[in-house]
Parts: sequence; C-alpha cells; structure tokens
Amino acid sequence: MAPDGQRDVESHGMPDTSDETVVHVYGAVPPERARAVAGLLAETYERIAPSPRLPLEVRLADTRGRMAELATADKARHGVTTVGDEGFACAHDAFEDRPRITVCLEALENAGGSPLPALRHEVGHACLHGRRAFYEVRMGAKLRRAAASHGLDEAALLQLLFFVSVGVKDWEVSRLLLRHGYLEDVQALAWELLAPSEEDRMAWQISEGVPALRLLRAASQLKPLLHAAPLRALPGGAEVDARAAAMVDYLPAPARGALLGLAWCVADGLGDDTHANIRRASAQLLAAGF
Ligand SMILES: [Zn+2]
Repeated sequence: MAPDGQRDVESHGMPDTSDETVVHVYGAVPPERARAVAGLLAETYERIAPSPRLPLEVRLADTRGRMAELATADKARHGVTTVGDEGFACAHDAFEDRPRITVCLEALENAGGSPLPALRHEVGHACLHGRRAFYEVRMGAKLRRAAASHGLDEAALLQLLFFVSVGVKDWEVSRLLLRHGYLEDVQALAWELLAPSEEDRMAWQISEGVPALRLLRAASQLKPLLHAAPLRALPGGAEVDARAAAMVDYLPAPARGALLGLAWCVADGLGDDTHANIRRASAQLLAAGF
C-alpha cells in the first residue's frame, strides 16, 4: 500500500503504548490486535533500551503482500540492492535514523507458537541498531582485495557484507536479550532459525561448484549460527551444537565442520562495537574461504 494508505492508530482510540512509541497500521488490522502487539513491543523496548532512548516507530501490516510492498518501497527509496531479508514476520530498520519495527500480522499468526520471541528480537535491534549508521556499509581496500581473490565482484562483496552484518547483529541482539533474562525467547527463535531447510539444501547444490557462490552461501548461514552462539555458553548449550550440525547436514563433512568452526570462532571474537565486529567477521570469513 502506498504511504497514503497509512492510518495513524491514535485516531482509532489507540494505543496504551508510551509517548515514545508511534504506531501506524496498514490495511485491516483490528484495533485490539494492534494494541496488543504495539503494547508488547513498547513494554519490552522501555524495559531494555537505556534512557534517554529514541522514539520507537511501529508499523503493523495486515498481510504478507502489504508487508512486502512496504519493504520494496523502503528499499527503492533508500537504494538498497541486497537480498535475504524477505519473508520474515517482523523486521527492524533505521532508514529514518531512528528505530522502526514492521510486523506482518498474517505471518505472525500463521507462524504458530508464541509471537514473543520474534517481537523481542526486533526490539533488541531497536535498542542496539536504531541509527542509520549501523546499516552503512564500509568496504576497506584490504577487504576488497580479499574479496577479489575469491572472485567476488563489488555487488557480491556487498551481499556478503550484508549477510555477515545480519549475523553479527543477531549475535548482539541475543546477547542483549540474554542479559535481560529472555532466555526462553532467544532459545525459541534459535531453534526456529536452526531448523533444517530444503531451500538451503537446494541452494547449496546450485552453488557448490562455484567458489564465489559457496562463500556467499556460507555467509548466509551465519545468521542462524551467530544468533544461537551466545546460548552455547549456557546450561544446555550442547543442544545448540547438535541443532546447528543438523541444520547443515546437507554439506559434506569437511565443509560442515569448517562452517561451524568458522561461525563459533567468529562469535568468540565479537565485542561491543558493531562495525568492528562486522569488519572482523568478514575478514575471518574471507581468510577462511569456503
Ligand atoms: Zn535479527
């Protein structure tokens, strides 16, 4: 829907959220449903975002089609060319230089299970990555050289950096949520992301013989692995390793071991600086090859 399809929920007797949360609905979203989801996001945001905090914008879309339209319009407006962020029930962005969470209610309801893990995850991004600067891509000469040696052109390197940055940021979010006691939520989303996927298996078959594509496939698997990595140090952490191995069981054993080893090694080197994390993880991936 075009921006003029936007309705401001406050004009519909909404919401019980704080002044710091601005809510917009797109399409046929029942007010009580909008209130529940926005309230949940606002409550978690106020609990974990340090004060003073940026206002949080929440967009609620009724259908997957409407969610896709919003995402396509955002990307076109801001010249984003990377792929891999489609199809999620919730998403975070900072295109307007402040945190914004978009939720697709149709996808959230059809996902089954509690919506809390996915919603809290996006709030984690809002707390940590709510400024445009966190989405700026920095490509140093060293990185370009390393990428070129693997046959990656600039567009492919951009895509690789996108995958790495998504994985790194998910690691940061999981760590933040765990520090605030949301173990069950982090774990539930981790098991969902680590579920084996037929799509991944097929994508691997297509890319297996092409080194640059193999590397991009490896990068794309960092999101589920890095998201789950902070759980490994906690009681029951062995289950992360077991589920991670099951997720990539379509890979030949040496490649499987190399990918998991790389992901855990990347996670061990991550710290508090997002850009430094992305730089370091990209360098590690390119140095390891795949
Ligand atoms: Zn995420």
